[in-house]
Amino acid sequence: MTERDEVAVVGAGLAGCLLACFLARRGYPVALYERRPDPRTGRVERGRSINLALSERGLDALRRIGLADRVLADALPMRGRMIHPVSGGQEFQSYSVSGDRAINSISRGALNNALLDAAAALPGVRIAFDHRLVGLDPTSGDLTFETPQGKVTAAASVVLGADGAGSAVRGQLLGYGVLTESLDFLDYGYKELTIPPIGGEFALDPGALHIWPRGTSMMIALPNPDRSFTCTLFWPTHGTASFASLGSPAAIERHFAEHYPDLVPLAPNLVDDYQHNPVGVLGTVRCTPWQVDGRVALVGDAAHAIVPFYGQGANCAFEDVVELDRCLDECGDEWSAALPRYQRRRQDNAEAIARMALANFVEMRDKVASPVFRTGKRIEHTLERALPGRYVSRYELVSFSTTPYAEVRRRVRRQHQAVGVAAAGVVALLAGAAGALIRRGRRG
Ligand code: FAD
Repeated sequence: MTERDEVAVVGAGLAGCLLACFLARRGYPVALYERRPDPRTGRVERGRSINLALSERGLDALRRIGLADRVLADALPMRGRMIHPVSGGQEFQSYSVSGDRAINSISRGALNNALLDAAAALPGVRIAFDHRLVGLDPTSGDLTFETPQGKVTAAASVVLGADGAGSAVRGQLLGYGVLTESLDFLDYGYKELTIPPIGGEFALDPGALHIWPRGTSMMIALPNPDRSFTCTLFWPTHGTASFASLGSPAAIERHFAEHYPDLVPLAPNLVDDYQHNPVGVLGTVRCTPWQVDGRVALVGDAAHAIVPFYGQGANCAFEDVVELDRCLDECGDEWSAALPRYQRRRQDNAEAIARMALANFVEMRDKVASPVFRTGKRIEHTLERALPGRYVSRYELVSFSTTPYAEVRRRVRRQHQAVGVAAAGVVALLAGAAGALIRRGRRG
């Protein structure tokens, strides 16, 4: 393959648009194919607005194409969690030991539009909306799309699938027998609800990510620039206590009055939102390989969709793009070398964040409200202050650094072991001192 042939990117979502920007910067002509119409001219589907927590990994990628400030202008910083118990007052838990580090609430649509604008402005990027990929020959790079005008075909030297969790590119590779996948769906789904502004002001503190931990269910709320909050309720999809169990407006009102009493006066459209907003599915996608013959590769959710409980899906997708760009650099734009290297570097990291995201669900829906958890967090922050740079919490490493996810898991394990050993040493020392005192007492 010659350098600088056209690259086809399938999916103009977050990863696809960023990828188009990075590739165009390297001098590649890029064809960006998207199944939907241009979102900049359309309306958001009801209950699918999704606001994201954008953190350091995502910002690092955006800084590299000069887009971070533009994106942050539409974002709201959240410096910690605000816990809402069933009764009693709210409690703020800072994300960082310094208290000033923040993750950023941004609408996925606004972020996507900013990236689309950036890609469209670059010479060499051609965006084809209303193009749904339905066929891909991984050996030739021939592509088939369904469009409102019927089927069209295209060809590309390299095809990058950035078409999300239900990736058609992945499906095609599966069909050719060159890839295997596993899909692990949670028995939880999610539904969006809204807290509008009150008298033009935020109804809750906009500087926090709000959490209502309820054990078997959980709700979170992130602020929007229009002073509303988008709430996401996570609950089992089936069973006696589940989305399926609330069949009437009265049942919905009763349920929220019992479990989320402080939400009820803030959400005047609660029943309507609940009845009409869809229930989304949640799951983890794993597949291997992520690339075939140095010609076709998967990026972002297409390769590794994860559950949203660490707020890292898009951040991780952006990191993929940065790593792919780095591999192209290191391999002199030789795709046949760069794509396998990209897979080697990213696969373990994607698996690490997939596991941490699943573990964080238990933490958010259950543990954050418990006194043991709060004490643990206080001890963690004390250690961070006492050992700056040597003891760093998992949350800070994931959200406020670009330390590879797999290294984060290893480092946190080492830190916990060291603290365990130190604690055992202190206990032994105290036991020794107490024993000596008792012996001395007996002698006296
Ligand atoms: P997508 O954003 O899904 O984009 C895929 C694109 O491909 C879409 O535009 C789609 O229309 C297009 N496409 C699909 N099929 C085809 C086809 N056949 N042909 C052509 N085009 C196609 N991440 C975070 O970082 N922080 C968060 O706080 C966070 N919160 C989340 C909350 C919820 C409730 C959910 C569901 C997700 C959350 N995420 C979060 C995850 C984040 O939304 C995803 O990881 C991110 O959108 C992945 O980007 P992507 O470009 O890989 O896929």
